[in-house]
Amino acid sequence: MTTMTKTEGAPAPTGPEGFLSVRDLQVTFSTEDGPVKAVDGLSFDVQRGRTLGIVGESGSGKSVTNLTILGLHNPQSTTIDGEILFDGKELITATEKELEKLRGNRIAMIFQDPLTALSPFYTVGRQIAEPFMKHTGASKKAAWERAVEMLAKVGIPNPRERASDYPHQFSGGMRQRAMIAMALVCDPDLLIADEPTTALDVTVQAQILDLLQDLQQEFGSAIVFITHDLGVIADTADDIMVMYAGRAVERGTTDQVLRSPQHPYTWGLLNSMPRLDSDLSAPLAPIPGSPPSLLNPPTGCRFHPRCTFQDRVGGNRCATERPQLDVGRASACHLTPEQKRTVFIEEIKPRLG
Ligand code: ADP
Ligand code: MG
Repeated sequence: MTTMTKTEGAPAPTGPEGFLSVRDLQVTFSTEDGPVKAVDGLSFDVQRGRTLGIVGESGSGKSVTNLTILGLHNPQSTTIDGEILFDGKELITATEKELEKLRGNRIAMIFQDPLTALSPFYTVGRQIAEPFMKHTGASKKAAWERAVEMLAKVGIPNPRERASDYPHQFSGGMRQRAMIAMALVCDPDLLIADEPTTALDVTVQAQILDLLQDLQQEFGSAIVFITHDLGVIADTADDIMVMYAGRAVERGTTDQVLRSPQHPYTWGLLNSMPRLDSDLSAPLAPIPGSPPSLLNPPTGCRFHPRCTFQDRVGGNRCATERPQLDVGRASACHLTPEQKRTVFIEEIKPRLG
């Protein structure tokens, strides 16, 4: 861990401290080609009982953020600065032993591919029972009962019989449910879900999202839901943070971000989102260009090379000056609040239909 050197202004804190509070997080990988700053000054909060959706294109630093919270980076090649407070405890400086105790117990994770979490060699029931035994000291028999109960909770039919199956005997959607059962078996206070539904068909995606919501009601955990698809979290997240090239560009409640988005990148994401109510053959409008390399990211606003609103800001500001993300409902863009409002209402909204 090195001391922080700020070349550009750090973002302001996001408001009252959350159950999970991330402050000015910076994650840099040393690679053969040079340092890759995958996360550059990220701040956010999640409260108990709430779901934060983190959205952004592939490569925007979502998974790196997630793995940093979990303490899963290789310390040899990774430099981490900033603060991650979980229920008042600083995680960046925590020991591996302390983190191991938190992972799978108070902090749980689900990933896109259940096969990375489930071993092919053990029954599903055993894999759910084991973390429960490890973290609670329950007997083998009690833990097995708990595994059966969890499989029932996540909607696996005949859970008592299915607990003795191996992962390959489950369908993709059922494996995803089993992984959720495994993640939730210890009643975690924080659940981090990194694109957990991306590989599933739309119907199963919707079922899994419903399931997470029900379980959150029951367990009251804080959820961080990571996705590249704004549509996926529209019904599930309470709050949304939009990330681009390692930084947060917009945040607010889901309603605020979806109904009155303020950042040109968010406008682009919304415009490229398939809409259920529109003609399926209507062409989507992907954001022109592609996300930058983080080896040599653009100066100023990292989105400026792809942004069509630079001339309205004028004075080359977008290319030279980093836009700040204020506290609370905010967007990091040099357009004035008035411009953000009118451009969205007059030019963007009509296209969204
Ligand atoms: P995503 O938003 O798609 O989850 P990631 O967080 O996985 O994006 O990656 C963000 C950036 O960090 C990418 O440019 C990726 O190539 C880079 N990156 C991730 N892990 C490493 C690593 N271990 N070493 C070097 N670069 C990495
Ligand atoms: Mg990812």
